[in-house]
Amino acid sequence: MQHSGKVRVRFAPSPTGGLHLGGVRTVLFNYLFAKKHGGQFVLRIEDTDQTRYVEGAEQYIIDCLNWCGLIPDEGPHLGGPFEPYRQSERKERYRPYAEQLVKAGFAYYAFDTPEELDKCRKEIPNFQYGHTYRGQLRNSLSLSEAEVQQLLDNGVPHVIRIKMPTNETVSFTDLIRGEVSFDTNLVDDKVLLKADGMPTYHLAVVVDDFLMDITHAFRGEEWLPSAPVHLLLWKYLGWEAAMPQWAHLPLILKPDGNGKLSKRDGDRLGFPVFAMNWLDPKTGDFTPGFRELGFLPEAFLNLLALLGWNDGTDQEIFSLDELVEKFSIERVSHAGAKFDYEKAKWFNAEWIKRVDHARLKGLILEQAKQQEIQLEDTAYLSQVIELVKDRLVLLKDFWEQAGFFFEEPKQYDLDAVKPKWSAEKAGFYQALLEKFDAVPSWEAAVLEETFKAAAESAGMKVGELMLPFRVMLVGGKFGPAVFDIAAVLGKTETLNRITKACSVFSS
Ligand code: GLU
Repeated sequence: MQHSGKVRVRFAPSPTGGLHLGGVRTVLFNYLFAKKHGGQFVLRIEDTDQTRYVEGAEQYIIDCLNWCGLIPDEGPHLGGPFEPYRQSERKERYRPYAEQLVKAGFAYYAFDTPEELDKCRKEIPNFQYGHTYRGQLRNSLSLSEAEVQQLLDNGVPHVIRIKMPTNETVSFTDLIRGEVSFDTNLVDDKVLLKADGMPTYHLAVVVDDFLMDITHAFRGEEWLPSAPVHLLLWKYLGWEAAMPQWAHLPLILKPDGNGKLSKRDGDRLGFPVFAMNWLDPKTGDFTPGFRELGFLPEAFLNLLALLGWNDGTDQEIFSLDELVEKFSIERVSHAGAKFDYEKAKWFNAEWIKRVDHARLKGLILEQAKQQEIQLEDTAYLSQVIELVKDRLVLLKDFWEQAGFFFEEPKQYDLDAVKPKWSAEKAGFYQALLEKFDAVPSWEAAVLEETFKAAAESAGMKVGELMLPFRVMLVGGKFGPAVFDIAAVLGKTETLNRITKACSVFSS
């Protein structure tokens, strides 16, 4: 069968836990490729390994895709022409293909019990169920036809294994790595159909990529060792002409470049590795996510896109639309990409500056709710956001950076003020209160002018008066321009804060 001509890609996660950022990058590259070529992007849940199945993981994956805005065209939650999209619901479809392979001599029944196999693993160093030992094990290659038939008739539990050829080289052209070859002697006879009738990943992925008319398969580099098994299955099932083009995406590496970035590295080094918070229902383990830490999906996708891809220029900020336009698989590097959390935060800060006001406000309100902070959607909030947004790296920084706009300082940085505080200074602010009270309009420029004129008439240095003023309004030495702060706080609040702080500083 040849393809219909339409690009069709798939993201095929196993619902075994939270989604690693590498998984989201796989989704992104699939999505970009599909959109760029006017194709379709399918979500398929590969849940044939019931022992690794984790409740809630599928919904988590769907929520991640929704958060990122990488919406599939077909999937278990959306339906589509190739339903069902959950492999456990397709169970009955796989056996006939496994049997077809047995009939054609490309696969065989194996009756070895788990105990027998454990024994082999213990007794034989580097044991592999393959061409070296298969003749000595209990399978339809070593037993007589009659014995096999009897075992089958008696319903003795068995699996079906692929018979890897001996002394062959299997090659294919990977869209990222070029020509890749494997020596079949080094690959074991993988199980295709398990004793419970469920297919393994190897059989299911090939059958479903075929039945779902998948044209391109992008997946992480960790799947490369499985490629020879898949290639042979495509060939043995007679579907070679329909085989998707493969692209194995580079690994995302630890910050020091030594090995694949894992969830544990995130815990150890204090940064997120999962897209969203994940609470493992089996172990109770909690893993923090980029979303809840205050990353914008725009920034998250942008930073993922550049882990292994660039457009050949120095451009670093890309919107999703721009990525769709500029993405090309030829520009994906085959070398692993080091994850740099500082750089990730830089992307976020850039996107906080760039997204439109209404969206940023919505995200900040959402984040506050999550942190159980009372924040109202008001014009005042809008003014505050505009004033502090250039200082935010993560959305959750908002309260730290702007909380003083909503509640007066509970504490002051007295170390910064006290050593240089004097009766003279106290007198200056006393006089300032009156001058501020009388300004014709409450605007930053007017306040600044009034402040400077007051300093001049008191014969004092403006520079020395600004810091205490900031600490009066903010509590500490941070925040945007101090007259902008006063302007937004309003007259009453500013005058109150000056009065209150003066008495604390003088006591
Ligand atoms: N089910 C595999 C996974 O969990 C899919 C690998 C592939 O895309 O072929 O990632």
